[in-house]
Amino acid sequence: MFDNLSTKLDRAFKTLKGQGSITEINVASTVKEIRRALVDADVNYKVAKEVTDKIKDEAMGRDVLISVSPGQLMTKIVYDELTELMGGEKQDIVIKGEPAVVLLSGLQGSGKTTFAGKLANYLKKQNRSVLLVACDVYRPAAIDQLKVLGEQVGVEVYSEPENKNPVQISQNAIEYARKNSKRVVIIDTAGRLAVDEQMMSEIEAVKRAINPSETLFVVDSMTGQDAVNTAKTFNDRLNFDGVVLTKLDGDSRGGAALSIRAVVEKPIKFISTGEKMEALDMFYPDRMAQRILGMGDVISLVERAQQQFDEEEAKRINQKIRKNQFNFDDFLSQLEQIKKMGNLKDLVGMIPGMGKAMKDIEIDDDAFKPIEAIIKSMTPKERAQPELLNGSRRRRLAKGSGTDIQQVNNLMKQFEDMRKVMRTMNKMSQTKGGMQQMA
Ligand code: GDP
Repeated sequence: MFDNLSTKLDRAFKTLKGQGSITEINVASTVKEIRRALVDADVNYKVAKEVTDKIKDEAMGRDVLISVSPGQLMTKIVYDELTELMGGEKQDIVIKGEPAVVLLSGLQGSGKTTFAGKLANYLKKQNRSVLLVACDVYRPAAIDQLKVLGEQVGVEVYSEPENKNPVQISQNAIEYARKNSKRVVIIDTAGRLAVDEQMMSEIEAVKRAINPSETLFVVDSMTGQDAVNTAKTFNDRLNFDGVVLTKLDGDSRGGAALSIRAVVEKPIKFISTGEKMEALDMFYPDRMAQRILGMGDVISLVERAQQQFDEEEAKRINQKIRKNQFNFDDFLSQLEQIKKMGNLKDLVGMIPGMGKAMKDIEIDDDAFKPIEAIIKSMTPKERAQPELLNGSRRRRLAKGSGTDIQQVNNLMKQFEDMRKVMRTMNKMSQTKGGMQQMA
């Protein structure tokens, strides 16, 4: 699922890669690509436009962080907006009343009956006594289907095959639940191939009569924009509490997941990802946004960088690099910043594509210890002017830091190499007319 959308968004972010900073021009083209990717994924055009306008405003108003690349920052902005679009916080189903009543609505074939079984299974696992009610008075096969599912998950199914009045059946079922100590009643109503007046008035009447604590609308995510339109029609009549998106295991383009909340203003509460009774998940907008973006854990990386990285310090060091004044004090400060960001191996693992490559390489946070010890054994003057460090001073450092001369020499060599790279970069940027950032 969402493979296409993820690939397209990834491509959109790539146009920002290698760019020194977020500018009006590169944001405009990236945002345009994001909008196209969303529309191609069957996201309602108005919704796609609104969300990308917000992404653009956000991106333009943001200071470029030195510690993350513009592409990564953009990913985070898009992630935040997609999460918001899908409702922000996870919303739970409301189970309230004696018994609590959950009413299911939706078109035929949407996966309503399958979901009834899954929900019964889910609630039963929370140690609740559940009663399933077959309220489809048109298709006898629907009653049998629910019975099979009920048996599978070990939940009793109430039905009245001869009764053609859904209001009566549901009221009788609730009465039956009370007498038999069932705490939750799940009512599976009739579905039609398309929305029709009779179906709407019927389910409206059921809702009015039984006053459920939760009315859910079940919809097939593969139907894209149609799913959103049907949701709107049902909501106008039923004022339901939440949406269940089914068949997200198929090649759904994801548009329904992204637009329903914005168009109908009701949260998605569950997603169904298969025919098995266990294939039911709560809907977490943030996790879904991560899945859509398919960006490894860039999001957490940027979040951690935003929380931990001292931007002022990063700017100060950047200045020093540009003036070829980077010294051991700065080096130590950089080490401390990296350490603050947490476990090195975790950090590397979050960079898409890096996790796997680094799997077998031992990255030990302790690897920094001898380096820190050597730098801390230097006098302030030596740290500021590394060229002072001749042979005898190096031997003193090795002794003072509990390392050996080899380690000190290695560090000096690495540091010199770093400074060389910095000098080359500075020269290059001067010829290009000023470097925006180092990251
Ligand atoms: P209803 O008419 O709304 O009650 O729909 P059903 O529950 O009978 O489902 C219609 C078809 O979709 C059945 O073949 C189900 O097995 C299948 N189905 C339901 N939910 C899912 C799902 O999440 N993923 C997949 N792949 N199939 C599903």
